[in-house]
Amino acid sequence: MQQKLERQEVIRLLRDEDETILYKRADKIRHENVGDEVHLRGLIEFSNICRNNCMYCGIRKDNALLKRYRMSEEELVDTARKAAEMGFKTIVMQSGEDMWFSQERMCKIIEQIKKFDVAITLSIGERSYEDYKAFREAGADRYLMRIETTDKDLYHKLDPNMSWQHRHECLLMIKELGYELGSGIMVGLPGQTIESIADDLIYLQDIGIDMAGIGPFIPHAQTPLKDAAGGTLELGLRTMAVMRIMMPDINIPATTAMESLHPQGRIRALQCGANVVMPNVTEGEYRRLYELYPGKICVDDTPTQCKSCIGMKIMSIGRTVGLSYGGHNGRLPQKAKS
Ligand code: SAH
Repeated sequence: MQQKLERQEVIRLLRDEDETILYKRADKIRHENVGDEVHLRGLIEFSNICRNNCMYCGIRKDNALLKRYRMSEEELVDTARKAAEMGFKTIVMQSGEDMWFSQERMCKIIEQIKKFDVAITLSIGERSYEDYKAFREAGADRYLMRIETTDKDLYHKLDPNMSWQHRHECLLMIKELGYELGSGIMVGLPGQTIESIADDLIYLQDIGIDMAGIGPFIPHAQTPLKDAAGGTLELGLRTMAVMRIMMPDINIPATTAMESLHPQGRIRALQCGANVVMPNVTEGEYRRLYELYPGKICVDDTPTQCKSCIGMKIMSIGRTVGLSYGGHNGRLPQKAKS
């Protein structure tokens, strides 16, 4: 279901709409279309090794000061097992573009984790069609990859040696293979305009995403963008609220970057359009080392602490924790055909 808006209206909502009116409208649409349940996804950050050099990202290849890590297959499967035992119905596996995780290795991992009766989301960047197909057949249900921005010049400045067109084509392949498709953008990137954010939202609507996250950009000291201004929570929330108005029934996460900018960031997000939270279930030192941006929350917490903390916050605003897989339209995509 989509609410088509004129580009001028999207821009007006983003720039000029009264904040209280905008947030109330998004919250009402969220309530009417996806209800009061908040779906939790257990997020495992399993490798901070990356072949790319995105100018904004703390785990970019050229950040020589960062200590790198990679979970073993056993560690990854074990972390997922514990998250499933804690009650998570979705496991999100995220990493840099670390090609040590070959098609074969990833498929083995997916097959083992699938036995824990969970939905699996992969967030491991750009891969070949054959890889995406094999992961889907091995049991992956969803794929999450942000387009970051639809301003192609900006994209090519920020993601050197990468191609916007290729990333876009990857998203189309993922959709064609029957995954639930997650994407999203950052807001507050240097040189990004409100008009370009409006185009981003129209793009997400046009490709028919099932889930999308909005993350304020937070400058990282060990990247070329260290002196940039960065995004604000307000711009993140406004963008998210407009997205909810345009896409009434998709899944929208309250993002970790929002909470990193403000202690109530995720709760505020849940009250202006969001219906998903992705608590971190990564263990030990790895949490700190998966440093996309500084000030990341919960780096000293355990998975159990994160789950109960967010559970209490959700209940404190009169919402409930979802107990289902929490897919778009309440179901998981059909099993892949081989
Ligand atoms: N390799 C995977 C995962 C990338 S990290 C992929 O390509 O999809 C996950 C997301 O973190 C990125 O898509 C980007 O939107 C966000 N991110 C990276 N650096 C950031 C920063 N400095 N501030 C805010 N968000 C950032």
